[in-house]
Amino acid sequence: MSGRVTIASVRPWLNAAALLCFSIVLATFVLFGQARAAEPGAVARTEAKRVLILYSFGREFRPWSEYARSIKAELERQSPWPLDIQQHTLLTARFNNPGPEAPFVEYLASLYQGSLPDLVISIGAPAARFVQRYRSKLFPDAPTVMTVVEERLVNRHDLTDNDVVVSVRNDFLAAFQNILRLMPDTKTVAMVIGASPLEKFWIDEVARELKPLGDRLAMIWYSDLSFDEILNRAAKLPPHTVLFWGMMSVDAAGIVHEGDIALRSLHAVANAPIFSYQEAFFGGSSVGGPMHSTAETTRKTIDAAIRIFRGEKPSSIQYQPIGFAAPKYDWRELQRWRISESRLPPGSEVLFREPSIWQSYRWQMLLIAAIILVQAGLISGLLQERRRRRLAEVESRQRLAELAHVNRYSAVGEMTTSIAHELNQPLGSILTNTETAELMLKGASPDIEELQHILADIRRDDLRASEVIRRLRSVLKKTPFETTDIELNDTVREAIGLVAAVAEGRGIALVYTPVLVDLHVKGDPVQLQQVVLNLIMNAMDAISDANTAKREISVWTVRAGREAEVNVVDTGPGLAASDLANLFDPFFTTKQQGMGMGLAIAKTIVEAHQGTISATNQPAGGARFTIRLPLLRW
Ligand code: ADP
Repeated sequence: MSGRVTIASVRPWLNAAALLCFSIVLATFVLFGQARAAEPGAVARTEAKRVLILYSFGREFRPWSEYARSIKAELERQSPWPLDIQQHTLLTARFNNPGPEAPFVEYLASLYQGSLPDLVISIGAPAARFVQRYRSKLFPDAPTVMTVVEERLVNRHDLTDNDVVVSVRNDFLAAFQNILRLMPDTKTVAMVIGASPLEKFWIDEVARELKPLGDRLAMIWYSDLSFDEILNRAAKLPPHTVLFWGMMSVDAAGIVHEGDIALRSLHAVANAPIFSYQEAFFGGSSVGGPMHSTAETTRKTIDAAIRIFRGEKPSSIQYQPIGFAAPKYDWRELQRWRISESRLPPGSEVLFREPSIWQSYRWQMLLIAAIILVQAGLISGLLQERRRRRLAEVESRQRLAELAHVNRYSAVGEMTTSIAHELNQPLGSILTNTETAELMLKGASPDIEELQHILADIRRDDLRASEVIRRLRSVLKKTPFETTDIELNDTVREAIGLVAAVAEGRGIALVYTPVLVDLHVKGDPVQLQQVVLNLIMNAMDAISDANTAKREISVWTVRAGREAEVNVVDTGPGLAASDLANLFDPFFTTKQQGMGMGLAIAKTIVEAHQGTISATNQPAGGARFTIRLPLLRW
């Protein structure tokens, strides 16, 4: 039997467990049910609370409209009970001489006869007075919350056990001290206030409260002006004056001003800042300062209402009058009137700050900054590149000048025989003439006239020899590439003068035909002469090789539109079609002793002058080389 468990042995335990479970379930139901019953709305949830809200001036009258809106919204949000809110407005408070209220009272009486509201909320002093005056007739035992009433306007004498008062305390001294703190130079305050009985009450109150500031501030009252006149004056206020927006329900002309349209039109024309003590007027028109906040009054009103709904006695609910909230300022107005934030009292809140351009367009600004950076990088890269290119250009010109110089040396080398011949001729003549003159002078009577002729010949030959040397010098001069305004016909003539003797020596006719107009180009004369020289030397080589009957090189210039043209044409064999593409390549040559640099150098020089060089064959045979250079004047 050891270790065996039978049903019979455990039955008493099973019964006990089942009983325990049942007890727990039952207890849970009972407790849960009680908890639900204890919830305030649980029983009454089916029964809506009827709330009557009574307005003083009208549903859209600031600042009361703002309080009423906030109170209604919060009540709907916080009430555990469904609500049936009915709203009525007195309107009579607007009028200086209100008509009989009886018909309105009758109307309300018929509405609420037999079904009293669970709560009456009056907004503003006139509505509170109305409730106190007619409560016995309209809703004798209904609890009442009289809210948004200035402490001085509460009729304490007629308060009952059914009343809760949520009052505020206007502290005009604090409001005006705020003005002096922000703008210490202020001398005058123009008080914008209407002409309704309530507003008239406040004129006296404000004047009394501001007595301590009497010697610092002068007051101007606009209560006896139409609003149009107020606007006129506000536009032309003298310096050191500010406007204080008290209240504008009904102006002296009897015009009613709802909402904040009046304040906004004042703001639009005023040449001085506007201050106010109501948060309802803050945000767009007034500078700010210590003000009544709708939030605090709303919080207390809702607190009272819910406590009354829960069954608390209204007489047991009491609040201290609500003062101004912590000061708030409109950043836009501070900017507009150049009020430094350092003047604001500690703990102030500055609202409506306009976000800086960085805050508003953060990613756009970042993008622009990035683009600018990239562009700056590109630009500096390009500048660097340009500098490098300039340096390279200068270097290549230098090389070109050196190469051209070498090329000229080799050309002159080729011409040595002819040059020697050309120098020999005048030198020989000079020698002969000198010997003749000496012989004549040994004679008994030398012929003076003849001697003069001989001397003139010597001088001519000497000049001829010097000219040859001058030309040689100028072509062999090692000069940097420098361009000036040159006349192309002369430059070409100079080059031809240099090779004329060589051509003559080789039995080739060198004919030069310059155009009859001046051809001004920007160029380096030595370099351009070298080009012409190279072309003529090539032409001479071609003719020498060809063995043709007509041995002639024609050089002529011509003006072609905005360009000057130099043509060098020979009567040689012309250019082989297969060579045309490579003629100007460096080291391209068909000659045994050739270097193949003449045309390459010519092309580089011409292109450095923004010109072109081309080669074709003449229809009648022979090659034609054409240089084109841009004219300076045409
Ligand atoms: P090189 O004279 O040392 O050969 P160039 O660059 O001056 O170098 O000329 C290149 C080649 O172009 C020459 O070898 C020749 O074949 C051809 N050439 C140049 N001028 C003429 C011309 N007037 N007639 C025919 N061929 C020419």
